[in-house]
Amino acid sequence: AAGQIESLRQKLAPASGDVVSEAGRRKTMEVFGEPLTPVEVVKRICQDVRERGLDAVLEYTAKLDGAELTAETIRVPQEDLAAAHQAADSEFLATIRRIRENVLRFQSAILHSDTTVPLDAGGWLRQRYLPIERAGLCVPGGAAAYPSTVLMTAVPAQAAGVKELVVVAPPTPFGSYNNDLLATCHELGIREVYRLGGAQAVAAMAYGLGSDANAELMRPVDKIVGPGNLFVALAKKYVFGDVDIDSIAGPSEVIVIADETTNAEYTAADLLAQAEHSPGSSVLITWHAPLIDQVEAQLEQQLAELSRSDLTRQALEEFGALILVSDREEAAALADQLATEHLHITCQQPEQLLDQIRAAGAVFLGPYSPVAVGDYAAGPSHVLPTGATARFASGLSSNDFLRTNSVISFTAENLNQVSSDVLLMAEKEGLTAHAASVSRRVK
Ligand code: NAD
Repeated sequence: AAGQIESLRQKLAPASGDVVSEAGRRKTMEVFGEPLTPVEVVKRICQDVRERGLDAVLEYTAKLDGAELTAETIRVPQEDLAAAHQAADSEFLATIRRIRENVLRFQSAILHSDTTVPLDAGGWLRQRYLPIERAGLCVPGGAAAYPSTVLMTAVPAQAAGVKELVVVAPPTPFGSYNNDLLATCHELGIREVYRLGGAQAVAAMAYGLGSDANAELMRPVDKIVGPGNLFVALAKKYVFGDVDIDSIAGPSEVIVIADETTNAEYTAADLLAQAEHSPGSSVLITWHAPLIDQVEAQLEQQLAELSRSDLTRQALEEFGALILVSDREEAAALADQLATEHLHITCQQPEQLLDQIRAAGAVFLGPYSPVAVGDYAAGPSHVLPTGATARFASGLSSNDFLRTNSVISFTAENLNQVSSDVLLMAEKEGLTAHAASVSRRVK
């Protein structure tokens, strides 16, 4: 069973094609003149951007994205943001506003607030929560346009009270030249949008960018969040420590747990929706054998109707599985071990099954909660831990944009009460100055 779970884990966490793809290797040779690994590529880009700033960023943008930008064009002008907003159709803007409301309501409701613990002798202890000042949001733009990612990263930050938001998106028609993306940024009040992608975008946000004409073209951010390809993920890891980051999110994945009451048509549609990310991993777990054939037939039928059917079929074949288990308990145990990004429990008494599962990025219950509502409109962020990292990581939320301070406010009596404990500990550790700082106060 351990071997089977391991092979499923690998299916659920398909390595990004960039690691091994021939095109990726050719690009690396072209740009760097030697066969570097993605980790080496990212290290080189980040170091270079840290040392040479804007010049390095412009060079990598030209070589990796084929875009010749300058200090003047690297930031999307305010007029372009306003023009994109002006040109956006009213139904799209109304949708953005409705989704923003949903996300804001949920993200504000879950926000941590200060907790004060009063002490007997008049003093108190407090945990304070304060928003970070400035956050950087990575919005992908290589394979598709993601205005939803702007909503799902920016609105949680705004719910937390972050004042300054920076968006980076590659200089592509799906990225920072995409009207829907720019209109969404403008609608959310985001005015700093840069035409930058990949590791160079992450390094620029971590270390900042200046130029002769403009010493502060981009000031460094405090935290970098959001999804991206392998180069974005590795760069976030590289700059962590100089700035904070959220979890490392890889290719998308779903596990659907189903039984004899489950609608095969819906389930096939949910599996296809995840595979459509390509790569994306889709796994069905059931103890009702006939459902496997029913879902398989539905997959074939529905694939024929999809726009990205070739890529979707390929992802299903490579990273999909239809698994028959003996009962609900086995299904729950397997799902828990796989710690998937999206878990859809669409069998009878889904809440009861939920109680048996601890590790998952986001959970969807019942036939009317497809993953797509979480992707686009419900309220929790769609930036979620993938590749079994839900064992220890959580989805992005407003609380990720908060820092905490602890505050201690003692009276003389509080100090008296605790002094002998402090003195003994200081003595054990041989830190006599620590001891003296208390004993001088407690005569
Ligand atoms: P991207 O926009 O994240 O990155 C593109 C950049 O990568 C380019 O600008 C380039 O600078 C850099 N790059 C590409 N090839 C390179 C190479 N060989 N060497 C160095 N740099 C290179 O890319 P994308 O293709 O749009 O991928 C985005 C990923 O994010 C997809 O897997 C998508 O499914 C995922 N995604 C996840 C979520 C989520 O919330 N989990 C949301 C949206 C997208």
